[in-house]
Parts: sequence; C-alpha cells; structure tokens
Amino acid sequence: MRLHETKPVKTTCPYCGVGCGVMAKPDGLGNAVILGDVTHPANYGRLCVKGAALGETIDLEGRLLHPEIGGARVGWDAALAELAAGFRRIAAEHGPEAIAFYLSGQLLTEDYYVANKLAKGFIGTPHVDTNSRLCMASSVAGHKRAFGADVVPQCYEDLDVADLIVLAGSNAAWCHPILYQRIQKARERSARVVNIDPRATATTEGSDLQLSIAPGSDIALWNGLLVWLADHGALDAEFIEAHTNGFETALAEARAQSGDVSAATGLDAAEIERFYRWWAETPRVVSCYSQGVNQSAQGTDKVNAILNCHLATGRIGKTGCGPLSLTGQPNAMGGREVGGMANMLAAHMDFSEAERSRVRRFWNAPNLVAGPGLKAVQMFEAIQRGQIKALWVMGTNPAVSLPDADGARAALTKLELFVISENVASTDTAALAHIRLPAAAWGEKDGTVTNSERRISRQRAFLPLPGEARPDWRILAEAAAHLGWGGDFAYAGPADIFREHAALSGFENDGQRAFDISARECMTKAECEQMRPFQWPHPRGGAPTRRLFADGRFFTPDGKAQFVAAGGAGLAAAVSADWPLVLNTGRIRDQWHTMTRTGKSARLSQHIAEPFVEIHPEDAARFGLAGGGLAEVKTAYGAVALRVVLAEGQRPGSLFAPMHWSAENSGAARVCALVQPLTDPVSGQPESKATPAHIRPLAASHWGYCLSREMLRPDGCAYWSASRVAGGFLTGFALEAPEEGLAAWARGLAGQGDLAEFEDAGLGIFRAARLDDGRLIAAIHVAPEPAEPPGEWLTSLLSKQRLTPEDRRAILAGRPASGAVNREGGIVCVCFQVRAARIAAAIAQGADSAEAVGLVLRAGTNCGSCVPEIKRMLKDTPQTFRAAAE
Ligand code: SF4
Repeated sequence: MRLHETKPVKTTCPYCGVGCGVMAKPDGLGNAVILGDVTHPANYGRLCVKGAALGETIDLEGRLLHPEIGGARVGWDAALAELAAGFRRIAAEHGPEAIAFYLSGQLLTEDYYVANKLAKGFIGTPHVDTNSRLCMASSVAGHKRAFGADVVPQCYEDLDVADLIVLAGSNAAWCHPILYQRIQKARERSARVVNIDPRATATTEGSDLQLSIAPGSDIALWNGLLVWLADHGALDAEFIEAHTNGFETALAEARAQSGDVSAATGLDAAEIERFYRWWAETPRVVSCYSQGVNQSAQGTDKVNAILNCHLATGRIGKTGCGPLSLTGQPNAMGGREVGGMANMLAAHMDFSEAERSRVRRFWNAPNLVAGPGLKAVQMFEAIQRGQIKALWVMGTNPAVSLPDADGARAALTKLELFVISENVASTDTAALAHIRLPAAAWGEKDGTVTNSERRISRQRAFLPLPGEARPDWRILAEAAAHLGWGGDFAYAGPADIFREHAALSGFENDGQRAFDISARECMTKAECEQMRPFQWPHPRGGAPTRRLFADGRFFTPDGKAQFVAAGGAGLAAAVSADWPLVLNTGRIRDQWHTMTRTGKSARLSQHIAEPFVEIHPEDAARFGLAGGGLAEVKTAYGAVALRVVLAEGQRPGSLFAPMHWSAENSGAARVCALVQPLTDPVSGQPESKATPAHIRPLAASHWGYCLSREMLRPDGCAYWSASRVAGGFLTGFALEAPEEGLAAWARGLAGQGDLAEFEDAGLGIFRAARLDDGRLIAAIHVAPEPAEPPGEWLTSLLSKQRLTPEDRRAILAGRPASGAVNREGGIVCVCFQVRAARIAAAIAQGADSAEAVGLVLRAGTNCGSCVPEIKRMLKDTPQTFRAAAE
C-alpha cells in the first residue's frame, strides 16, 4: 500500500510528443484518478485513450523495487560500488570509449542532463545515444542542415489557423491523437487536410486528399512540388534572395530527381496536381511530418525536401504556416536540448574546439570527449564486435525496439558489464542485465519534459517512491560519487539540475545558439516547482518564444537558411523474387512502445489484443492467406508469427505490422527482429518502414485460447500471444499436434489442480476449467480450427468467487448456458465499451455522423480516439452492417 497525499497534482503525460497536461488526483493508496489539465496549452483538458488510462498502469505489479546483481537483491551501495568498479576496470583496460550509455526519450530532461554530463565530461566516453535515434534523428539532422540548429519553428496554435495541413508519414489519429483532434477542428472551420502515407490509416478518415505514395517516394513528391512551384510562379523570390542560400542547386537537384512524379510515386497525375495547386494557392500551410518520414534510410533528405518547399515560398515562422515535426516520444526534444545524443555535445553545442572549451570550463570536466560517438545501431554493432564492453541502458527496451532486434539482443550477451536502470522488473532487455537498478516510474518523478512545439512542462510526482526505487538523476549522481566525482554532481534535487542546464544554455551564448533558457537559471526551488509550461528560447531579459524565424534570421553563420539538394530517392532496398514484399512497421492506437506500461491496462488491450500483419486482399490471395488466419512473416533478419488482417487500405506489395509485442507477451511477434539495420547516412536513423519481406501461411493443426489469472507462456506453439483482461490474461495460441497428445499438452498449460475437462478425441477438441475452491484459475479451449475469441461471458468468470455448475458446464461446452455468444466484434470505443456491431446498428438506424453515433451510444464523446474508426464505419456502412447482420 502506498500512502501519500491526495491533493491534485499537475503533471505531463509520459507517452507521445504532444505533451498533454495531466491532472492526477491520487487516492492516497497508490492509485490516482487521471484527468486532462484544462490549463495546459497542448491539450486544454483533453486526453487520448492512452493518457486517460494512465491510472491503470501505475500499480506496483511487475515493478523492479530493489537493486540486484546477478539476479540477487543487494543494497544500493553494493550495486553502485560494483558498477563503479566495473566502469573503472574497463576504462583502465580498454579506455573510456569501451563504455556506452543508451538513454530514452522517456527520461526527464534532468535525467538526460546528468547522464550526458557524467558520460561526456567525466567518464570521457562519447558513446551516449538514445532511443530517440529511432524516432526523430532525421528531423534533427534536417533542421540543423537547413536552419543551422535543431529547431521546430512552429507551434500548435498554427494548426488552429492554417488553411492547409499536410501530414507526411504520420498516422496522427493513432499516434498523436490530441493534435489530430485539433487538426480536425481546423478542418471543421474549412482547412484542408492532405495525408501522405503509403497506406490508408485512421488519419485518412479526416483527410480531404489521401496520397498513397509508393514506399520511399516522398522525395520525388516533394521535389516535384518544388519544381512545380518554380514553374508556376509560386515562389517567394524576395524571401529566397534575402534569407536563404543554395536555392538554385536544390532546384536543379529537384528537377533531376523528380522526373515523372506520377511514375515515381504511383499516384495519379490529377491527385498530384491537386496537392500542388492547393499548396501553391494556400498561404497558410503547415506541414507535419513524423516517423514515416524520419524512419528512413533517406530520412534527412526527406525532411529537407519538405523544408525546401517552405523556404522557397517563405512559409516559415509565420502565423499558420511552417514545418512542424511531430516528435514521437514525450521528451525526445528535452534529450536533444541537453545533448543526449551521440552527435551532440551539450545544450545545442557540437564538438568544435570553442564549444568543447566552453563546456569543459562550465562543467569543470576532467575528461571532456573529443568528438561524436556511435549512434544507436552502430553502438550495438560495436557491442557485438566487442569494442564496447560496458553498457548502461536507462528506461528503454532495445532488445525489442532496435532494428535487427534479435541481433541487438544477442549483442547484449557479449557485454562484460551490462547495467540497466528500469522500473519494470521483466523485459526482454532487463533479463540480460548484470546489475539492475530500480528507477522511479512516471507518477514518482519530478523534472521537466519538452514537447513537439518546444514547450517545456513540469512533470511532478504524485506518488511516493516505492521500495528502494530512486529517480534516474539521483542514481546517476550517486554513481558519479562512487566514481569519485561526487562534488560535481551534488544536486539536492531536479531544480538544481534544471538551473544548471538553464545556465549552460546561456553560457557565452550571444544569440548564436538557438537553445537558450537562461532566463530560468536563477529560479528559486519554489519557482521551479510552480513553473508553468513555456516555449524556448527564453533568453535572459527576453520572453518565451512562440515561433522562430519570423524575422528571416536563422542560426547559420550568415543568418540565412540553407536549401539542401535532396537526392536520396528510391527504395532503401529493392524487392526480389525471394523477398517480394515491403514490410512497414509502426504503432497502434492504444499501445505504447514495448507495452511495459500500456500492456498493464485491460481496457487498452480491448481495441487490438493480438499482434497482426496487415495485407491487401489481393496479396493475401496471392500468398494463400485468409483473414483471421496466421502467417509467418520473414525477412533476411528474422521471422515472426502474426494474425492476418486483410486491409483494402494497405498498398498492394506492402505489409504493415506493429512493433509493440515482445518475448514477454508473445511467442514470436518481435516485429523489430525483422527490420533491416540500415541507417540514414546523415542522421543514423534506421529504415524501419521498408524491409524486403516474404509471407506465407503458418501451419497449425490446433488453435485455441486460455483464460488465466497468471500470465502463461505456452510451450511448443507456432503462435501465441497474451493480452490483459480484467482479473487476468487471455492467451491465444496455435500449434501442430503435440507429441504428448493434445489433452496432456492442454492439461499442462492449464496447470495442476481441480480440473474439469471435456475431450472429443475424434474431433480433436479439448476444453477444461481449473478451479481452486470453486474459483476459476484457468479455462482452456483447443479445437482443430481457428477459435473465436471468447465473449465477455468467459472473461467475466474471473470476477466470480465461486463458479456455479452452469458456469462449469458452459466452459466445457465452449459457450454460455444461454447460447448467446458475443458476436458484436471488437471494442471500438474503449471509454464507453462500445463494440463495432452496436455502432454499425446505430448507423443503419440513421446515425449519419460521428456526432450522431455519439449521441446514441456515447461512443467517441470522451477522448475522441475512436472517432476516425467511427467515420470509417460510416463510410463502409453497407458492408459493415451486412457483416454484422449475418
Ligand atoms: Fe498522452 Fe495521448 Fe496526449 Fe499523447 S495525445 S501526450 S499519448 S494524452
């Protein structure tokens, strides 16, 4: 039980880069009611379904609560002494560059700051990278090339007044839902929305034009736009002349690269023309870009191709027009501010002699690094080679999320010293660590984060630290003390670190460095505590900055923006007879990264409970696949087993699979194990959107599911995945007939105890219920054909203290006593538990808009995350209703 105060606390959502303000109302017992903060300018009180379900993820189940060495509990002093001794030995034997840090966009800025200072200033290793490398490194590199600094010029308010909003490589409806709702508000007032994405997604539903480009053809489309603007007199020649360099070269490259845009992109010429005309005719245009652009072997060139069009029309830094990178993680930008990436030093400084001298003097650093370190993928390759011998991973799960994830996982086993600081006890990564340090979790952390619009917000603790968990900054500071640098890391709290960070941002900064929050360097602890969200830069004597570059001055030596010839056209890797398809990986609406938090919520598992691969029906027919069946997806790097989902919106020749599942909750659904470790030559960001792949049906003789109170990991299955339900887990599986016989295998899965069972050996059907004093412990169903997911009648039995004889008979019969198996389809509206068939029925009865559906069923009227799906159902009403009625 965690006793604590119960007063409401304003904090920030720990998931996506929208950075929504949260009001947490703790109950004093370790739980909290979570609401949107109506005063926060990122969301004005709204939360998407993930944010709204935060209260279901903060309990102590599965937490790492004590330091461990080799799996045995130890005290903090012993753990940190072991860490320090290991780092010292490895640095002495192999040099400090044999030590690396792999950080996370989930960390707070203060954590990042201390980690970066310790590594680059004191230990003397440049190898500090972060999972943000997988998220927005291409945008960082593109911004630096064009603007001279890693700056997002725009703010969310620009979406409110834009007349054209272009979404490039962004399923914002699922990945940045609150911003997407803001975009939809703009659309209601007449703004147009263009969605550029190889596949039609939930975001398509709120778009006026869907451009389903061929994978990897973004540069051809944007270069084509630059050429079209030049050829149609739509350039801002005055702006180009006064405020930019390199236009002619970029235009010449665009002409050379764009060629036949229709052929390159696979789009109709009329669609392309419409997009280009809208762009040319609309002064207020905001281009939002996200992972579909960044996660590419040509990601930096893609970003610059977009920026080129804004620079060529002077549409930047002004109200309602400019480029807006949508950051994936809650604090990817905060990490960049402190230099928490391998190719940055600190506070937007790089590695010139002057910058190194400045940082060395400011930190009083004894071992300041000489230059950049290895980026994420190359860092793990160096581990694999034995070049890096010690690694400290903080708050992330690279064994699941890195490309070639099996290779990354294998690399971790080569380390002489592997340290993690984590709040989750069991992850694919944590399982391999030598030293495990319990870190504070979201509701227990104090500090700051920065969202996609440069807005720095406070994250505040509303729960006490459980067990022996400590904040990451403190763990780092204590490690520094064990290494002999305690005086340089003697922070009393996050406010001390924030002030030092603010002071460094303004140190010898005469306006040349974009990141400057020196106005905050003298804040008192109380002022830090009360700090309201603000946008950087906020230099000493100045005010927070809503937009940059409105004056046409950039952070380059001559103050002019740089056009970049964007030439990296074409697919990263060509398909072939062996690998005839292109695999695109991504995210789903209700899960976050590797599910270590969102996977704890039964509510969030209701939308999509299983790992899947989306395929166009024509391709499914070509490869002998049926919707709802199972498939093996294979690439040159690995193979996974996934449920097949047929999707008309999927581009023929392409596959899509989400990256959330891990070995913790699936048998073979580690999708990043399929992804090629190919990176952008400038940004180092991996190509996660286009790996050549093959697909084939997965053979199985039996399918089934097991409902259980404890998580099960069935042996010998071709496929299994487990999802959370109220009171337990539901595990779906498929297997070839087991050697020991089906009944024996199923009994083994259900476990020892009071077992009631039914078997029809001839038909290959086995069902059983395991009880303990009349209480259901597990229910299993196996049959020689794919099993329908059980209805709520089955999962609700976990809440009963004692099953009735009818309940037992129903489990053994595979259906409730009433015979009414739920066939209402999946949950669409998680907030109000509204299933697809009820929405279809409401539409058939006359509800002709999402609002009308909301009036009848309340669906979509709370967080709004499901509104795009309701709109899609409205569009597909005849088919949907027929299917439901059958
Ligand atoms: Fe959190 Fe959702 Fe807001 Fe993103 S959009 S910050 S996940 S509440």
